Amino acid sequence: MIKSMTAKDYIKLEDEIGAQTYSPLSIVIERAEGVWLYDIDGRKYLDCTSAFSSVNLGHCHPKLLEVFTKQAAEMTQLSRAFRNTQLPLFFKEITELTGKDKVLPMNTGAEGIETAVKMARKWAYTVKGVEKDKAEIIVCNNNFHGRTTTVISFSSHQKYKENFGPFTPGFKIVPFGDIEALKAAITPNTCAFLMEPIQGEGGIQIPPDGFLKQAETLCRENNVLLMLDEIQTGWGRTGKLFAHLHEDVNPDVLIVGKSLSGGFYPVSALLADKEIMDVFKPGDHGSTFAGNPLGCAVSKKAMQVLVEENLTQNAEEMGNYLMENLKTLQNPHIKEVRGKGLFIAIELDGPARPYCDKLLEKGVICKETQTNIIRLAPPLTITREQVSFLVDCLKTVFEQ
Ligand SMILES: *Cc1c(COP(=O)(O)O)cnc(C)c1O
Repeated sequence: MIKSMTAKDYIKLEDEIGAQTYSPLSIVIERAEGVWLYDIDGRKYLDCTSAFSSVNLGHCHPKLLEVFTKQAAEMTQLSRAFRNTQLPLFFKEITELTGKDKVLPMNTGAEGIETAVKMARKWAYTVKGVEKDKAEIIVCNNNFHGRTTTVISFSSHQKYKENFGPFTPGFKIVPFGDIEALKAAITPNTCAFLMEPIQGEGGIQIPPDGFLKQAETLCRENNVLLMLDEIQTGWGRTGKLFAHLHEDVNPDVLIVGKSLSGGFYPVSALLADKEIMDVFKPGDHGSTFAGNPLGCAVSKKAMQVLVEENLTQNAEEMGNYLMENLKTLQNPHIKEVRGKGLFIAIELDGPARPYCDKLLEKGVICKETQTNIIRLAPPLTITREQVSFLVDCLKTVFEQ
């Protein structure tokens, strides 16, 4: 087949007329299937990013494709001005799987977090009895919850905030995984504690064992909502359906997104029990595309496939297998290898990008985070053979 445009042409076109908000690797992908990405020059790569864990079921899963195309031919977007046949079935699936009474659908992760902030504040004033406009939400240092103005207001990364002020007040930042600091930060005005059970963009940072459980207890004692952002850690990524299940914790508010739809469509959701969700009344909140039939149909199927294909268990098994091998890597620049399930970091004492570039030549795509950390998060459908291929590539790159 003759191609009219080369990789260079595509890159030039994109860079000339697109806003420069990313610094992507210089490969142009034209097709993706399962764990593999194919560039326009016919090269094949093992995807160890899973689009920031939004394609946990692999790219273009055939069962999702079938439901998606069928639904797209029937109805796509209706708004919630009236009802549709897909929304309630999606609600049933997600509440049964998470064990929560109620769900509120949104589109993106950041929008889900914004919604959680509104929910916690309204709960503070109408249930907890906090004085008007005094509600406080505690968050963690090094967090990542999205890029909207309110969400970056409580980021600790200057890069995310610089020149974007003024910021939304009402947030307190405590060190990640420090129970004493959390205890000290709680006041009668605290309505919620928001955290990622494992920080993803922050470099796969895992809190000390038992921290989540202690935080849960502390929140309960102080009538503070425990809100867990499992947008990246959810849907089997860490070897449990949700990362909070490693410590048998029950969050008051659970925020999910990314792989909820298997990567076919932006769908996020908040889950909470009735007494909390019911603070929202008609007219309080909304979003034009939230809960549309196309997103609902494919998300419902994505949750079913995750369960039917035992992908959470596969994440645990393949994660352990990968981790065992990573621990044997001989390279003086490796400071630490850590992770849970298929959510793994190789932390180096210097820049990670040169290693990522070499891995790319070998046919493995991974992207550094925080400049010195390589995040390995392949689709949960990865096979033992594919993990072995990854290990061989890592050995070559790190030990040569
Ligand atoms: C990606 C991510 C978000 C933001 O999701 P978007 O869909 O990009 O808005 C929020 N929280 C966590 C933990 C994430 O990984």
